Amino acid sequence: MKAIQVHEFGDADVLRYGDVPDPTAGPGQVVIKVAAIGVNPVDTYIRAGVHLIRPALPFIPGSDAAGTVLAVGDGVSGFKTGDRVYAAGSLGDAWGDCYAEQLLRRAEQLCPLPDNVSFAQGAAMGIPYGTAYRALMQRGAAKAGETVLVHGASGAVGTAALQIAASKGIAVIGTAGSERGLDLIREHGAGHALDHTKAGYLDAVADLTGGKGPDIILEMLANVNLVKDMEIAAKYGRIVVIGNRGPVEINAREAMMKDLDIIGIALPNTSADDMAAIHAALGKGLADGSLNPVIGKELPLAQAIEAHHAVLRPGAYGKIVLIP
Ligand code: NAP
Repeated sequence: MKAIQVHEFGDADVLRYGDVPDPTAGPGQVVIKVAAIGVNPVDTYIRAGVHLIRPALPFIPGSDAAGTVLAVGDGVSGFKTGDRVYAAGSLGDAWGDCYAEQLLRRAEQLCPLPDNVSFAQGAAMGIPYGTAYRALMQRGAAKAGETVLVHGASGAVGTAALQIAASKGIAVIGTAGSERGLDLIREHGAGHALDHTKAGYLDAVADLTGGKGPDIILEMLANVNLVKDMEIAAKYGRIVVIGNRGPVEINAREAMMKDLDIIGIALPNTSADDMAAIHAALGKGLADGSLNPVIGKELPLAQAIEAHHAVLRPGAYGKIVLIP
């Protein structure tokens, strides 16, 4: 089969398109014919060798994919050839193997993909929707009637968080850095859209929340925003750090004076039970149409290098996917 491989850590041009052996399904395993692959920022950190996850070389990158079941191993009862599925989880600790025409997973790492959802949309489910649900509903413990600020709402995790919040009766303020992104987040559940490239853009948050501040902040770039988040958060607020690209200096007194919780999340830390609960909830949202992943860009698998550049560029617009 065709696949992208990394033979050495480095810039995007270490991504090589070529031939690798087809996977075969062992006991309890399933081979998927991949129809769409999700490109996540973490794929670029792992490829560059700057992430805690450092797979043995050479490796096939990527943690998100959707497609149809091609073959099932002994002991698999829940899936049969032709079933539409998306992957949520990895075979080992390396969170990879998805940038390929076929993918091997344990049966319990697959989720059914409803007929009303495209394969490209299925490729947005594992990391972006899994992370958004984990951050908002499990770690952030959001409740109907609360207000969440999605700080960085125009990308894959942000748009997922907007839709999940809207479906749960949680009021949303979102931020984006382009006109297109601001329009997008208004369409997908943000009652108010703020431009995070404009000076003073957070000044409006107090008025928008009746002077109280957001109960929850989902933060996509904590090294830039954590200090401001602590200033604007409501008393007893929760700030969930999803994305961070460097160190930041805070005054912990701010957290003390407001009883703030600053909560980190890393999706791979999620227990199997919590992960099952996440995907059960997401599956219902896909089926009833309240969750509708936004696909901003589709590229052929052979153009993975361009996809790695695109996923780090400003002006995010939902999800970037590769098509094998
Ligand atoms: P993405 O699609 O590239 O989106 C990035 C988002 O960050 C966009 O909305 C972007 O807005 C926004 N952003 C840019 N500058 C910002 C600023 N100054 N303040 C606030 N937001 C800003 O990436 P993603 O897949 O949604 O992931 C978002 C982040 O979460 C990444 O850092 C990723 O590595 C991380 N992540 C972590 C986990 C975890 O387990 N902790 C899981 C998934 C993702 P504009 O482009 O419109 O400016």
